[in-house]
Amino acid sequence: MSILADARALVAQDPVCDACLGRVFAERSHGLTNDERGKSLRIAAELDDDEPHTPVDTADCWVCEGLCAEFDEWAERCAAAVEGVEFDTYQVGTRPSPLLEENEVLLRETAGLAEDAGELFKSEFNREVGKRVGRLTDTTVDFGRPDVQFTLDLEADTVEVDVHSAFVYGRYRKLERDIPQTEWPCNACQGSGYIGKQPCEKCDGTGYLYEDSVEGLTAPVVRDVMDGTDAKFHGAGREDVDARMLGTGRPFVIEVMEPRRRDVDVERLEGDINAFAEGRVEVEGLRLATYEMVERTKGLDASKRYRATVAFGAPIGADELTAALEALEGATVEQYTPQRVDHRRANLTRTREVYEATGELEDATHATVEIHGAGGLYIKELISGDDGRTEPSLAGLLDVDAEVTALDVVGVYGESEPFEDEAYFRDEPAEAAVDAAVEDKETTEADDQETAEE
Ligand SMILES: [Zn+2]
Ligand SMILES: [Zn+2]
Repeated sequence: MSILADARALVAQDPVCDACLGRVFAERSHGLTNDERGKSLRIAAELDDDEPHTPVDTADCWVCEGLCAEFDEWAERCAAAVEGVEFDTYQVGTRPSPLLEENEVLLRETAGLAEDAGELFKSEFNREVGKRVGRLTDTTVDFGRPDVQFTLDLEADTVEVDVHSAFVYGRYRKLERDIPQTEWPCNACQGSGYIGKQPCEKCDGTGYLYEDSVEGLTAPVVRDVMDGTDAKFHGAGREDVDARMLGTGRPFVIEVMEPRRRDVDVERLEGDINAFAEGRVEVEGLRLATYEMVERTKGLDASKRYRATVAFGAPIGADELTAALEALEGATVEQYTPQRVDHRRANLTRTREVYEATGELEDATHATVEIHGAGGLYIKELISGDDGRTEPSLAGLLDVDAEVTALDVVGVYGESEPFEDEAYFRDEPAEAAVDAAVEDKETTEADDQETAEE
């Protein structure tokens, strides 16, 4: 059949509005709206038949029941629903009623056309309302992961809004010991702060084993500045609670749920966090990041550089220490699961490489040692030997007892590439972030995280 014959068969199901008529031919003549297609076909058929022009009021259409005249209205409802919310990208989705979807099939079938001819009502509604939302809010459509998702429920007559999370990337230093990375609920009261009706003695009724955490000293500030409902901390691995995190710091992402602001001044935010944390924790190199940066930060294989204060069980000489460290440098270490690690963790032997090992004797029984190793290397055991469960070890090579009395992590580096990849940021680079990325390049191989707590 010709297109005019098809149009006649559709128009015969009077009243069908121009948009519903044109939508059946949506794949033809790019650059027209369905409303324009429908109107043109109606007129062309009338001219061909020399019939009087009989326009159909969209409100009377049996297929869409007038919805094709409501694009502006729905767009205005969307814009009103996000008033005061800052966003750059959006997407519109439509949930048509089952009746409307049936009408669409029926319209085509009655005219002898394929039931999926042209395009679906909901595609047109998404596009037409979406275009108008973009104009009204001065934002752009994003079919991937937009800042804001609108769902138009036509049957319930509601606009649902999902404001997606915003993400801030950075590096933190933990300048004091005994601060966990994330909030650590008390194991005596399961975080409730109470044993029965009495305040829990172990945590003083706070519900947390430690008063502060890196998360608690940083995430609430970001949540407040972005005016979100909640915030979550994602770290690139974590150091032991009793280890400091110094040097170039550890990558992290703070996720803010339902933010009303997202284009925040990161330098100012950095200052706000550092003031709030009062020297216990410091952040730097903050950037606005994408959703994908969370997985990258948590999952990128990273090597670690440690500084350990070591106490020996018997006096040793400077030359002995140097020789032992030279033997460790470049060594492949076999580590049976350490005795201090959670018993629930499966026992197995890990193989990890030591990239660099240097150190200096303080006196005959004390030294400061710096080790750069693959992710997953148990550093306390590399020093102590863990009763022969780690081989080789500093204690084993020196043939004296050796124990780490204080441990700091001084660098966390992506093994194959820097954490700071421009593709994962939403803003322009600041100079500090560029510096950090350059420092990352000094590393080589691959592995997982370094401690037992995650
Ligand atoms: Zn219609
Ligand atoms: Zn408790």
